[in-house]
Amino acid sequence: MRLDLRDIIHTPGASRDFAWELDLSQVTLYGEKPFDHPIHVSGSVRNMAGALQLEGRAVSELDTHCDRCLKPITVALDVPVVTLLAEELEDEESDEIVLLENGTADLEEIFSTACILALDGKHLCAETCKGLCGACGADLNEGPCGCKKELDPRLAVLAKLLDKDSSEPDEET
Ligand SMILES: [Zn+2]
Ligand SMILES: [Zn+2]
Repeated sequence: MRLDLRDIIHTPGASRDFAWELDLSQVTLYGEKPFDHPIHVSGSVRNMAGALQLEGRAVSELDTHCDRCLKPITVALDVPVVTLLAEELEDEESDEIVLLENGTADLEEIFSTACILALDGKHLCAETCKGLCGACGADLNEGPCGCKKELDPRLAVLAKLLDKDSSEPDEET
């Protein structure tokens, strides 16, 4: 998606809105395709005293997993983007500025990059998640695994199941 800004580049005060759905469903990161849900992008570019400022956000949901217990979870993705756009760079230090091409801004590039960088965060199923036992792999949210005492045979079976689940080969790779 390219946004044509030629009619506002030289008109201080003018602005142009944009809204579209970004499709990153084919993007693979760390062996997963994290952007399963449509990404709703909206915002505007405003000519502020001759400088073009883009303000927008990308909103979606992410299928991921808890960093502690590995349970699959879906979390909200809300990525704000604010950047300056220019036809050419006036000094070398301006790496915050996105260059226009023939008066158009490559919104796809700007918002794809922002969404991918936003994946860095850690996700927990709950702030209080107890995670997995380092020894037997049992989900400690479901109760103590009993590693330090005698291993409860029912929990040992559960631990085995969980272990099997998390070591299944990834179909995408
Ligand atoms: Zn968890
Ligand atoms: Zn244990």
